[in-house]
Amino acid sequence: MQVQGDRISEAYSLLIQLGAQLDLYGLAEPLTVAVRQALGANEALLLAHSSGDLRSLAPDHAPATRLAEALDDRAFAEALLRGEASPYGLSHTDGTSETVIGLPLLLDGETAGVLLAAPAPEPGTLADCAPLLEVAAILFGNASRHTHAVETLNQRVHELDTLGQIDRELTERLSLEHVLALTLDYAIRSTASHAAFIAQYDESAQALHLEAQLGYRDTAELAKALKRSDSQAALHSAQGDVAMVVNDVHGTGYTAYLPRGRAQLAVPVRHEDRVIAVIVVESRRPDSLTPEHARFVEQLGTRAGVAFENARLFAETEAEREKLALILANIGDPVLVLNPELEIALMNQAARDALRLPPDEAVSGRPIADVLEGTVLAGLANYLSRAEMLPYSEVTLPDDRAYYPLLSRHPAVGAILVLHDLAVLKKTEALKNELISTISHDLKQPLTVMTGYLELLQMFQKLEPRSMHYVEMLQNAVRSMRTLIDDILNLARIESGVQIEAVPVRLDDLMQRVMEELKPLASVKAITLDGEDMSRIPPVMADPALSYTILANLVGNGVKYTPPEGEVTVRAEQRGGMVFVSVTDTGIGIGPADQARIFDRFYRVRRPETIHIEGTGLGLAIVKRLVDLHGGTISLRSTLGEGSTFTFSLPLAAPPRSGKTAG
Ligand code: ADP
Repeated sequence: MQVQGDRISEAYSLLIQLGAQLDLYGLAEPLTVAVRQALGANEALLLAHSSGDLRSLAPDHAPATRLAEALDDRAFAEALLRGEASPYGLSHTDGTSETVIGLPLLLDGETAGVLLAAPAPEPGTLADCAPLLEVAAILFGNASRHTHAVETLNQRVHELDTLGQIDRELTERLSLEHVLALTLDYAIRSTASHAAFIAQYDESAQALHLEAQLGYRDTAELAKALKRSDSQAALHSAQGDVAMVVNDVHGTGYTAYLPRGRAQLAVPVRHEDRVIAVIVVESRRPDSLTPEHARFVEQLGTRAGVAFENARLFAETEAEREKLALILANIGDPVLVLNPELEIALMNQAARDALRLPPDEAVSGRPIADVLEGTVLAGLANYLSRAEMLPYSEVTLPDDRAYYPLLSRHPAVGAILVLHDLAVLKKTEALKNELISTISHDLKQPLTVMTGYLELLQMFQKLEPRSMHYVEMLQNAVRSMRTLIDDILNLARIESGVQIEAVPVRLDDLMQRVMEELKPLASVKAITLDGEDMSRIPPVMADPALSYTILANLVGNGVKYTPPEGEVTVRAEQRGGMVFVSVTDTGIGIGPADQARIFDRFYRVRRPETIHIEGTGLGLAIVKRLVDLHGGTISLRSTLGEGSTFTFSLPLAAPPRSGKTAG
């Protein structure tokens, strides 16, 4: 009784002493010592139990570790795990032997661990120690539950860390290779296995293609093994879209890819509910891979799926970009593609040539303002950022060629600048003008003959009134045809780049000549032609013949489009270095829609009042181009039914003296 009482108080003090120790490793040593002493044994070894595995808690070099050899006897180990205490005769290789006692530590009927001790105590001692062993089991069970919980928690935290790291890699880098290497590394480490690979799954061919591997000596060999028609857990996993855990390939008929590989895990990698790859993990230890492991590798697989998709999208974008670059390269006109930050995104060879950029000069990502610096397009970035229209119609770039810049903005892309080479256009235009002037010239010849014979007819024939009327109509038609040809010829000459011979021209002289020419026409319609006194306006710099054409055309139109008894007035005014001449009439006026197109070639207003007025629609087009050639401007103000004012400007012959206005 005494002994048992001692054992109970020993057990009680053990409980007090170690009850707060919840760390299995911290508890192992004092508990082993206490139990060993109570049992009167020389050596004792404590082993923790988890899912069928017994793990020694003593340091590897401790002499007691040798006792674990007894567990190699499966029957002995299994009896212990069932909760049965039994002795075991352990023979060592050196010929010695000893009797070991195996004691299960049970908490709530479950084996939390086992204790091995040698030499085995007498049955009486064992019975005495029962309370102590019970306390030891409680202490051990609690600590192992707690430690297991902490380890699981740590494991989860580590898993989350790993997944987080992969996620970061995924967002920071686009390299598929890197993400896959990382995935395989984590898969191996988190499962404590030996090798892993990832293979793409081709659903239509029901085949796997090796993408990356870690831990296999020979990649080509592995790739070949995947192509074989053997039974492969990897393929079954992909086909069935299920994670597979093979405890031991021996006996299942599944292929092991790793030499001496036993346990295997295969999980599908999905994208949008479709299996696109499989990850396989292999270990040389049978039964070492669990559904838990599979769950984690599957999570890794989700990331790998994203990486595959990213890589595919990236490759697709790259291919598109290359296609675009190829198209751009084959466009003869210079093209510059800008991103929303107004930096160069793409630029073709023609653009490089036009800007005379050295072949090795990198432009991608450079601000457009930087690349165009020193050219006429230097201000482009400003127009772009203010979303304004480009003010240029023709620019000459460093290659000395003329271009027409066309800018289009695209919110998603940025902007595209296309520079149309005007060389071809100019050549065609010149050819056209040459053709027109040749033909027109030839057309005038028969007209002269016709006019001559019509005059002869009138002279030598006594014509009856009706015939006379016909002759007059013919004469009118010939005249308007001559006007048309003259206008076409003039326009062609101007457009082919006629040189103006500018000399100082006095406006009062110019007006005088125009008035004299048009007075007869005006008086027929009883229109008052009025000209302001211009003697005090300084001379303008102009071509005498061409400036006459300008004014005569405008005054002529004033007379033509003003009903009888109206007025046409010419005024002039000096402003800065220019003289502004305006021709005002009290005529039929021009509506806003027609005003916009009035200076276009062959444009005529179609209204009942104008239907019987002859014209070609070329007069104002000629006037506009002539004013441009002189470096002046032309504008129009008009109200339908009230009249119109055309105002054009010409430069002064002598620049104005500062601070004073001449006249
Ligand atoms: P044309 O007079 O030969 O038709 P223009 O180029 O001189 O050609 O003029 C183009 C058109 O503009 C005319 O057909 C006419 O309808 C209109 N127009 C020109 N000048 C006037 C004016 N002063 N008042 C009203 N309409 C005019």
